[in-house]
Amino acid sequence: HADLALYHSKAMGRRQAHFFDEEMAARAVARNAMQADLRVALEQDGLSIQFQPIIDLNSGEIIAAEALARWTHPVHGPIPPSDFIPVAENFGLINALGAWVLKNACHEAARWPTKTRVAVNLSPVQFRATNLLGEIDLILAESGLAPSRLELEITESVFLEAADATLACLFQLKERGIHIALDDFGTGYSSLSYLRSFPFDRVKIDRSFINDLNASSEAFAIVRSIVDMARTLGMNTTAEGVETAQQAEILRTTGCTEVQGYWYGRPCSPQTLGTLLSHSERSSPPKPALVNEDI
Ligand code: C2E
Ligand code: MG
Ligand code: MG
Ligand code: MG
Repeated sequence: HADLALYHSKAMGRRQAHFFDEEMAARAVARNAMQADLRVALEQDGLSIQFQPIIDLNSGEIIAAEALARWTHPVHGPIPPSDFIPVAENFGLINALGAWVLKNACHEAARWPTKTRVAVNLSPVQFRATNLLGEIDLILAESGLAPSRLELEITESVFLEAADATLACLFQLKERGIHIALDDFGTGYSSLSYLRSFPFDRVKIDRSFINDLNASSEAFAIVRSIVDMARTLGMNTTAEGVETAQQAEILRTTGCTEVQGYWYGRPCSPQTLGTLLSHSERSSPPKPALVNEDI
């Protein structure tokens, strides 16, 4: 957490932290500074989104894109979501942030030249908000995006509290034709029981398994089991974090249907994604060689 460390060193000044409670206090100050800055960013249009392509392994075409929140701090530079999302969750900012991302992602997707799906991450905290469904309905109506083109990504941690209320909400989303994906699969708890209680459209296999694909036959066995199980339960699978051609080839033999990762394309600006989609509309390239835009 390099960026939290930046805030941290600022909060500590030139003093050295010798004691645990001092360290804790400095971290609290750092988080508080971050939440104040994040609040300003939310109010003053300081956030943005990037889209990462998701590729159909058979056709090589972009069939979806995942919206990822971005925050470039005016002083500290780019702050990764792994730092600012938890801060937003802990300081009551995630509902506003989540709604902002959803709204922007849906408006962008409605203007794409293709009927490509858009995937948006939802925080478990957003499920506690009373009006989540109403907000999603409004955003879909205003953007004109067909519900079937929206996929919401949730992690197993949404089930940790109020599993019944969460399930009810998920069923209502599904009734609208919105797709639901279980993100980072394999990293949480009780994975299997949730797979049985809710008909997810898709399981996203966590990139830690994909990462080990070359070296480890255990990882291969796990990925193949997840793909088989998902198929048996009527769900599709997306492999996250595909970084090499070799991983892509191995994945093909598992029956996994979709891939996402640096090998196919890093998260890119909405403009770049629009360009990629209009190219794929005219002709589908034999090999999905996408841009790797480093921002
Ligand atoms: P995620 O939903 O699992 O998103 C995928 C993450 O993996 C992204 O990181 C993406 O840039 C990264 N990634 C993609 N391909 C590769 C690869 O080949 N190798 C490696 N090493 N990484 C790859 P990012 O953008 O830093 O986001 C991290 C997490 O932050 C996301 O994980 C998601 O949990 C959360 N997040 C991002 N945007 C939002 C948002 O709008 N709302 C919420 N609630 N969470 C968000
Ligand atoms: Mg995700
Ligand atoms: Mg994921
Ligand atoms: Mg992940």
